[in-house]
Amino acid sequence: MAAFGTVFMPEMALATFENNHWSKAEFVSAESIQLHPGAHVLHYSSTCFEGLKAFRHADGSVNIFRMEENIKRMAQSSKLLFLPEFDANQLSQMIIDMVKKYADEVPQPPGSMYIRPTHIGTEPSIGKAAAPSATSMLYVLLSPVGDYFAGGARPLRLLLAEDGMRCAPHMGMIKSGGNYASALGPILAGKAQYNADQILFCPNGDVQETGAANFILIDGDEIITKALDSSFLHGITRATLLTLAADLGMKVSERNLSVTELLERVAKPGTEAALSGTAAVLTPVGTLIHNGKDIKVGNGEAGPKAIRLRQALNQIQWGEAPDTHNWLTKI
Ligand SMILES: *Cc1c(COP(=O)(O)O)cnc(C)c1O
Repeated sequence: MAAFGTVFMPEMALATFENNHWSKAEFVSAESIQLHPGAHVLHYSSTCFEGLKAFRHADGSVNIFRMEENIKRMAQSSKLLFLPEFDANQLSQMIIDMVKKYADEVPQPPGSMYIRPTHIGTEPSIGKAAAPSATSMLYVLLSPVGDYFAGGARPLRLLLAEDGMRCAPHMGMIKSGGNYASALGPILAGKAQYNADQILFCPNGDVQETGAANFILIDGDEIITKALDSSFLHGITRATLLTLAADLGMKVSERNLSVTELLERVAKPGTEAALSGTAAVLTPVGTLIHNGKDIKVGNGEAGPKAIRLRQALNQIQWGEAPDTHNWLTKI
């Protein structure tokens, strides 16, 4: 099985912004794009992206999960990066047209078609270090993905990093390339030093998120996760799971969580921790690494509440439970 995100459909939908207007979207080869080496994105990181999935149901239909939310977040990222404003209807049509074109290639559950809309500043000007790109390119890539949990959902080892941060605090809610480059140093150091799978960024003891997923703590019937602010990415999976948790009668607490409180809570039996994201869905955390010591979360295995929540989410995505919140777009 090819690694996640390495297989692409041969064509993509693409639109460009030039002379103050958007071109009509067209299908072009997904092999390459033409870009000036002085393009704004390559020097000053005017780039943002999204990640969402389309699922095949037993009736043969193909359904995109929470597309409107991803488009909204991409509009917000573009705005915060001073990229040209795009038309949400145009992007949703580009996504739908792409998924329709490659509907036959959408894998059966637990696989899915991962959709990667991307928006980049293309103006050829290295003089614009402190000015936005006047031109841009918007495209939608598709990548069929298999079961992320093939071989079982092995609980993760998370290193708590209290000094440093993932990215600049005012950039956290933007799904933008520079933030991942910013997090790479701490992630690689944590992997090398502690054999950690991921780093949980906790600047000054404030539990935020990992490099590409949100953090969720489950204690009894309470689900706890950081309240939204500009410092971290507002995951759509996070929002979805909080809604599902409330549907299941759990108490949802969106608030700040300190490392001290986190360590106190995981010391009690039955506490669960997990990472949430479109790719990860809800991946259990088995171990926290703090001050050089391994601390087990619960018994170190996937907990029943996280498994229940992941199942509730998958059942809606896969068409096995009613879509009562209207999260699916049938194409
Ligand atoms: C994409 C992402 C998430 C998860 O967002 P979803 O909308 O749930 O996929 C969380 N944190 C970061 C840093 C991300 O890039």
